This record gives sequence, C-alpha cells and structure tokens, in this order.
Amino acid sequence: MSHVSAKHPRAESLRIRERLVEGFRRGLVVPEGLAAHGRGEAFDYLLGERTTRWARRAIRVAAAAMLAASRPVISVNGNAAALAPRELVRLARVVGAELEVNLFHASDARARRIARWLVHHGARRVLGVDPRYAVRIPEIHSNRRWVDKRGIEAADVVFVPLEDGDRTEALRRLRKFVIAVDLNPLSRTARAAHITIVDNLVRAVPLLVREASRLSGRPQSELERIVRRFDNSENLRSSLDLMLRPARLRGLG
Ligand code: ATP
Ligand code: MG
Repeated sequence: MSHVSAKHPRAESLRIRERLVEGFRRGLVVPEGLAAHGRGEAFDYLLGERTTRWARRAIRVAAAAMLAASRPVISVNGNAAALAPRELVRLARVVGAELEVNLFHASDARARRIARWLVHHGARRVLGVDPRYAVRIPEIHSNRRWVDKRGIEAADVVFVPLEDGDRTEALRRLRKFVIAVDLNPLSRTARAAHITIVDNLVRAVPLLVREASRLSGRPQSELERIVRRFDNSENLRSSLDLMLRPARLRGLG
C-alpha cells in the first residue's frame, strides 16, 4: 500500500519511487538501480512528468517496429521488472515477443527472482535464466555479455526499456534494431537506439500496449512505412528543446 498522500505535488513520482524501493526489498533491484532511477526522476521533472507529443510519436513507431519484427525480444532488467511487470508481459503478448532477463549487474539468483516475478505477473516463458542457452556476445565487455540463444541472439528487434549506453551500442553493432525508453535525451542509449522513447517507463509501456493493439493486424508494408518515416535525432532534439524551454513559458516564472 502507498504511504504517499494524494495531495502531495510529487505524489505520482513518489509512488513510482516506492515501487522501486519495494523491488529493492524483494531483491529484484540493486542499489545502483536506485541511483539510476534518481537520475531519471530529474529528467522527468523537466518534462513536467507527462508524456509529450514527441514521446507519443516514438511510441507509435516503436509499436509498429515490434509488430513488424520477425523475432522481437523485450530485455528486462531489475528496474523495469519492479516498475512495470504486468505491462511488459502484456506487451510481449500483444506483439508476440519473448521476454528475456538481462542484467548489467549480473547475478543468477537475482535473474531467477526477476523471471519468477514476471511469471507471477502472467508471463508464460522467460528467457535468460537457463545456462544451457547462454551465449557470449563478444562486443560487450560488461557483465551483461551473456544473452539467450533463443532470445536476444536470434532477435531482429530488441526493446530495451532502460539500458546502458555501452550495451545499446553493442546491440547496434550486432545489427539489432534497438528501441529504448530513456528519460535522458542526451544519453548514449538515447543516441544509439533506432527509436528512443523519451518518457518514464511507467507511462510509456501501457501506451505501447495500447498502440500495439491498435496497429495489430495492419499490413506489414504499412508498419514498415511508419518505421521508415521516423527520424530519431529530430525526435530527440524536440524532447530536449522542450526540457530546456525557459521556465516562464511553462508558467513557472
Ligand atoms: P548511458 O549509459 O546511456 O550514457 P547513463 O550512464 O547516464 O546513460 P545509466 O546509469 O546507464 O545512465 O542509466 C540511467 C538512466 O536511465 C537515467 O539517466 C534515465 O535517463 C534512465 N531512467 C531511469 N529510470 C527511468 C524510468 N523510470 N523511465 C525512463 N528512463 C529512466
Ligand atoms: Mg551508463
């Protein structure tokens, strides 16, 4: 249960933070994940803690890309599992994607806890926890170099809600089409992804599910056209412009 008063001006942000702390207590999230979340909160503050029209546009294109993919995979880390487990499972179902646990701070026990948490929220199958299918990706020098043979290694499109820059760049070098959610439009993740959704994961994933349901059944050619027309750098610039807009234009000064 939430301890945050609904009247508090940061109520929603504090509720999200509580969810993450709860994930930490359950052993899904590491301390570094709490710090990463804090950095995200600062960018969300600048966005006004709402989904912008630029994020909505990126979400639509991301939904089209996942539906158009032959082997889409959703890569799940501790923070993502703590913040939006049910919605990630729903998304996997709507776009026909595999869910794969992939941790920057690797730990088999934590990976298994995250997989169980996803199953508890309705996942039928979670990859990334069976050592028999683990393959090493040579380009990645962090702990995250292990991926699942049936998942990320075989994927054409990888959705990484919350990812590290090195890892995103490595996925690109492996010729994966990468979709990221990142509140920081300046991060290496944001710049390396093919589609970057500059929004809080908590808001973005339910919208992705809705958009994917709406686009589901559209012809492949139409989905591909939606993806082709998207310009990620321009979209990132627009999100950044909005964050940097003088406070007085937003009624603050
Ligand atoms: P990069 O490695 O991509 O250059 P970084 O090293 O600055 O980025 P990381 O520590 O790898 O950042 O990841 C933290 C980032 O994740 C934050 O800066 C924020 O933008 C993003 N982030 C954290 N929580 C959320 C969230 N709930 N929704 C969206 N993005 C988030
Ligand atoms: Mg990083």
